[in-house]
Amino acid sequence: MELPISIKQDDIYTFNLEIPYYNWFYPLQYNVDDSLQKLFNNDIYLEGVKGAYIHIPFCSSLCSFCPYIRTHIHDTELRNSYVSCLIKEIKSYQRNTKPGLECIFFGGGTPSLLSPENFIDIMEAIHSVFKLSASCEITIEANAMSLTPELCSTFKAYNVSKVRIGVQAFNSQSRNLYQLKATVPDIIRSTELLKKYNILVSYDLLFGHHGQSLESFINDINLADELCPDTIEIYPINFLSVPDRYWRALSKSMTHLSARDRVLFFKAGKERLLELGYHQWSGHGFARDKSFDLLYHRCVYGTLGGLISFGPSAISFGDNYLKWNHSGIDKYIEDINSKAVPTYYARKITETESKAKRFVTELPYYGSIDYDNDITGEISEQLYKLIDSDIIYKNDSKLKLSENARLQYSSIMFYLLPEQDKEALSREILSLCAGLGGRFQGDMIWI
Ligand code: SF4
Repeated sequence: MELPISIKQDDIYTFNLEIPYYNWFYPLQYNVDDSLQKLFNNDIYLEGVKGAYIHIPFCSSLCSFCPYIRTHIHDTELRNSYVSCLIKEIKSYQRNTKPGLECIFFGGGTPSLLSPENFIDIMEAIHSVFKLSASCEITIEANAMSLTPELCSTFKAYNVSKVRIGVQAFNSQSRNLYQLKATVPDIIRSTELLKKYNILVSYDLLFGHHGQSLESFINDINLADELCPDTIEIYPINFLSVPDRYWRALSKSMTHLSARDRVLFFKAGKERLLELGYHQWSGHGFARDKSFDLLYHRCVYGTLGGLISFGPSAISFGDNYLKWNHSGIDKYIEDINSKAVPTYYARKITETESKAKRFVTELPYYGSIDYDNDITGEISEQLYKLIDSDIIYKNDSKLKLSENARLQYSSIMFYLLPEQDKEALSREILSLCAGLGGRFQGDMIWI
C-alpha cells in the first residue's frame, strides 16, 4: 500500500499527511544487485565523489529518542579496534592518483568520543588516500560532555571547521525525558572552548515530544541564542524510530502532540529564529551568517557530487552506483579483520533517479533550485501539480517553495518521489507504524 498523500492547503498545511521521516538519502537503498557484491571494485564507487562520511557508532550513554546505529561504549579497546578497522576500510580505496575531497563529515554516534590519537590516525589515513581541497570542510558531531581542550586543539590542527553539539533542549523536562547526560554547564563550557579555537558551533534542538509546550520550545531557542552558536538546527522528534526507552520514559501526564501541533511548533520556532536574526539555510537549519553552507549536505541532499562513506550502515554514492554497508558493528569489525572489506550491498543508480534527485531532495531541502525549463521525466506530473497550486513557483531563473511548503519539506520530498520509490518508502513507514503495536497515534501521519 502507498501512503495516500495529496495536496490539501490551509493556513499552515500543504498536504493531508505529515511524513514523519525528515531526511533521507536519495536514491533509496533497495533492489540489491548481487553481481555487484561479488565484484569488489572500489573504483566505480569513487566516480564523481566530492565528500566523505566517517561513522563513529559509540556513545557514552544512550539518549531515549535516538534511532541511530550506535552502541554504548564499553572500553577503549573496542573503540581502538573499531578505529583500526575504519582505517583499513579507508585504505582499501588507495590508488596511484588520489581522488579529491571537498568535505568530510564525522557522524555517529559520538565522534567526539574519539581520543586525539584516534582522530589523528583517521585523518592521516584520509590524507594518505584522498587529496583534500585547500578549503576542505571538516565537520564533527559532538556531545558537550566529551569535548576537551586536547581534542579541540587536535581538531584545529587538522582544520576542523564546524562542530555540531547535540544540545536537544535546555529545559529540564525535555532533558530528563531525552535522558541526556551532558549538563547545561557542559554545553556552555564546550561552546566557549570551540569558540576559543575558532571552530564554528552548531546546536541541534529537538521539538515535538509528548507533553512539550510551545513556550518551553521557544524559551529553549532563546537560551540557545544567548550562547551565540553559529547555527541552530531544529528537528521534530521521529516517533517512528524512537527506541523503547522513550516510550518507557513517558509519564501519564505527557500528552501526545498532533502532526498539526508539530508543524505549528516548527513555524513558531522558525519565526523566532528569523526575529533573532538567523536566516534559513536548509529545511531545518538556521544560521547567523547569510553565506553559511554545509558542503556535506550539498552532497547528500544537493547535487555537489558523490559521497564515500566508512563504517557500519555507511551509505556511498557516486555518479552511477549506490553502495551501503551492513549495519552491525560487531559484524563490521569481524568482516574487516577476516576479509579486509565490510559486507555491503550495491546497485546501479537509474537514469530516473539521477534526474529526480534535484527535485526530490535539493528543491525541498534548500527551498529553491536553478530552473532551466528541464522539467521532464517521471516526476513532472507531480511537479506541475505543485506549480499549479502555487506550492512551488518560478522566480527569475529559479524554482522556489512557498514559505508554508517549507514547513512540510519532508512531505514534498515524499510527494515528488518517483512511483517505485514512493511505494518502497511507504512500505517501510507502514511497517514501522505496524511495529509500534498500537502505541503509534494515527494523526502523527494522517491529519
Ligand atoms: S543522540 Fe547522539 S549522543 Fe545521544 S544516543 Fe544518539 S548518537 Fe548518541
